[in-house]
Amino acid sequence: MLDPTRLPRLRTFSACRRRFHSALLEGLAPALSSAHFLSVKALPWSDAMPAPAEFGLRTTDRVMEAGEGAAANRLGAFVQRRLGEYATYREDPGADATSRLSADLHFGTISVRTAILAALEAACDSPQVGSGVSRWLDQLAWRDFLAAALWHFPHVATQEYKAGFRSLPWPGTSGDLQTWKQGMTGYPLVDAAMRQLQAEHFMHNRCRMIAASFLVKDLHLDWRHGERHFMRELVDGDLANNNGGWQWVAGTGLDAQPYFRILNPVLQGETHDPTGAYVRRWVPELRQVPDRYIHRPWEAPTPPAAYPKRIVDHARERLVALELYRTCARAPLGRSTQS
Ligand SMILES: Cc1cc2nc3c(=O)[nH]c(=O)nc-3n(C[C@H](O)[C@H](O)[C@H](O)COP(=O)(O)OP(=O)(O)OC[C@H]3O[C@@H](n4cnc5c(N)ncnc54)[C@H](O)[C@@H]3O)c2cc1C
Repeated sequence: MLDPTRLPRLRTFSACRRRFHSALLEGLAPALSSAHFLSVKALPWSDAMPAPAEFGLRTTDRVMEAGEGAAANRLGAFVQRRLGEYATYREDPGADATSRLSADLHFGTISVRTAILAALEAACDSPQVGSGVSRWLDQLAWRDFLAAALWHFPHVATQEYKAGFRSLPWPGTSGDLQTWKQGMTGYPLVDAAMRQLQAEHFMHNRCRMIAASFLVKDLHLDWRHGERHFMRELVDGDLANNNGGWQWVAGTGLDAQPYFRILNPVLQGETHDPTGAYVRRWVPELRQVPDRYIHRPWEAPTPPAAYPKRIVDHARERLVALELYRTCARAPLGRSTQS
């Protein structure tokens, strides 16, 4: 919503968030509707729209419907049914309670102004949705922050923002990278996330953080491998958001989380997917596992035979990651407010 070229070099998300919210108070320019644009079909020289198969692509009905109409329906349904409870359920991947508008915002099939106005109108009509609206607008502010970061510091597209981490060693193996991509690491939430990505070409935000953290801090693989894989697979693949997300997790980005914050995939599962609803949806081998063991199936009296054993021990790899980072952690570490 904010023009990244006009944002000063805001180095923290909280400064950008304040600017974002004050811009909202100043009033939004109206969104341009599609009536302002000439339809491709109306162009006299326009060829017929090519079919996906002509690009060697397969179609699947598990991917969200694309286009302006579908985006407007998604926004309407989200504002009506989910926005009020967004602050409560946004971190629960089993609830699937977020807007799923990221691909629309990336491709422009919905304008961010239209999305903001719909949320603000909902807050005016029913003040109890206010906390949900405020949290949701914060997410849109992250999008602007990361766009501004890429604009002002374009080298982040290929390099760590924090120069001190550019010499980080990455001793991970290509075999482990494949296991992670296939969702076969033996850590249920990581595997569920990677299988959602394979099936829907979408992944819940909390799961993106957990899967990314696992690749970088448990498997010690360069975040660029994960970034590339996400970019190839996600329907909402977006250079600024994807790069910003990976660098945030790796602790190398602008206002990233501190490098020593390492997500524990078991505790994250128990906190954000306590009944295992999300894991059971995506990892059929674990459907019958009792809630108590759903995020640590190796401790079950009879571990499910069809599910892979853990490829690494998180407690051990956490220490290895800390050691690797400490060797070159001389760059300033920004405080981060992303949850
Ligand atoms: C490792 C990693 C990779 C990511 N890759 C992408 C990507 O390629 N494309 C992408 O759009 N988002 C990416 N994100 C951000 C976020 O995960 C998605 O935007 C969000 O999950 C999309 O779901 P939603 O539309 O239901 O979000 P909602 O929760 O409904 O949020 C509304 C909108 O705000 C924006 N937004 C939400 N969270 C973030 C965030 N953390 N950073 C920036 N913008 C955000 C998105 O445009 C989103 O559609 C990534 C995050 C991480 C941690």
